[in-house]
Amino acid sequence: MNDGSTLNPELTDMFQKLVAFDTTSRNSNLELIHFVRDYLRDFGVSSELIHDEAKGKANLYATIGPDDRPGVMLSGHTDVVPVDGQNWSTDPFSLIEKDGRCYGRGTADMKGFIACALSHLPRMVEQPLVTPIHLAFSYDEEIGCIGVRRLLDILQGRAIRPAMGIIGEPTGMRVINAHKGKQGWRVTVKGRAAHSAYTVEGVNAVEFAAELICHIRRVYQEIPKHGPIDAAYRVPHSTLHVGPIQGGRALNIVPDQCEFSFEVRHLPHETADHYLQQVMQHAHEVLEPAMQAVDPQTSISVEPLAGYPGLGTAGDAQVVRFCQALLEDTREPDKISFGSEAGLFSERVNVPCVVCGPGSILQAHRPDEYVDASQMKSCWTFIDRLVERLRSSGLESS
Ligand SMILES: [Zn+2]
Repeated sequence: MNDGSTLNPELTDMFQKLVAFDTTSRNSNLELIHFVRDYLRDFGVSSELIHDEAKGKANLYATIGPDDRPGVMLSGHTDVVPVDGQNWSTDPFSLIEKDGRCYGRGTADMKGFIACALSHLPRMVEQPLVTPIHLAFSYDEEIGCIGVRRLLDILQGRAIRPAMGIIGEPTGMRVINAHKGKQGWRVTVKGRAAHSAYTVEGVNAVEFAAELICHIRRVYQEIPKHGPIDAAYRVPHSTLHVGPIQGGRALNIVPDQCEFSFEVRHLPHETADHYLQQVMQHAHEVLEPAMQAVDPQTSISVEPLAGYPGLGTAGDAQVVRFCQALLEDTREPDKISFGSEAGLFSERVNVPCVVCGPGSILQAHRPDEYVDASQMKSCWTFIDRLVERLRSSGLESS
């Protein structure tokens, strides 16, 4: 990195340490979580670890400042996507600073934000905070926002929950108040095998799956015509999409089984179930009767895969105005197409959230992932002002 753009040493040190933990979602994140717990403890801050069933992973939740009132939550996921099969020009698990960019897996998504938050700890404890800061770090976000749900179960039973949340996914430090929700499903079509010379004896699972897929396509094609439409998104409406499909054993056998998965990505004020119903209505009312006329044992069934709710925080909500004031950003809040844990926090535990963090999602999940040092500095300044603000006042006056 050029001399003029070097990050401050506390931030660099923390960032290096976080990137060095290989927290690919398939691995345990406990080394990182224990490191954070110990670091917090050194500053007199205790943390709660909320483990997964196998005790191989954990969320961390901590409150800095008074614990008898709601504060501002800084939240991020600790896991990263795999580097398998990606051609990196540097070691993905060591932070390399070069030409104003910080390279490494998770630099943008989203250890840069966590490093900014944690390296402020000395300032957070230096003088008492009037309004607390909550830290919430999760696991298994990258495989469907799985880990944070256990933390939400705990928070649900608490009298004191964060008054607002900032989820530090990479948004170029823009305040994001809305994103789409997502839900996936796996469909299993059970047909009946037969010699392919006697097709009338069988129920072709692949062909019925294909009919259902065509129907999914028809449902999708109606959406742009009838809406709802929100031009703030690059794809301004909800979408349906079919992914992997398997079925059939040999060309001379009528296939008795076909499986495929599909997903809905919906505007925050819609539900994924609304679209599932349209798909399954066709399956149950049109396709299954035709299949079962040949063999009553045949069927079309569906099971849910991973998903998360959309985020639909009002554009003038307190959390939006609060963050924009700290950033001195007078633009309208933006909307993003990718998902985050923010929707879960607001839906499950009523914590109004925005997404705001350093770096670009376009650099995330790619080889040579990086975050611009200038973005890290903006985030540093943002959290610096947050700490300053919470030292002197409550949240109301924003
Ligand atoms: Zn992320």
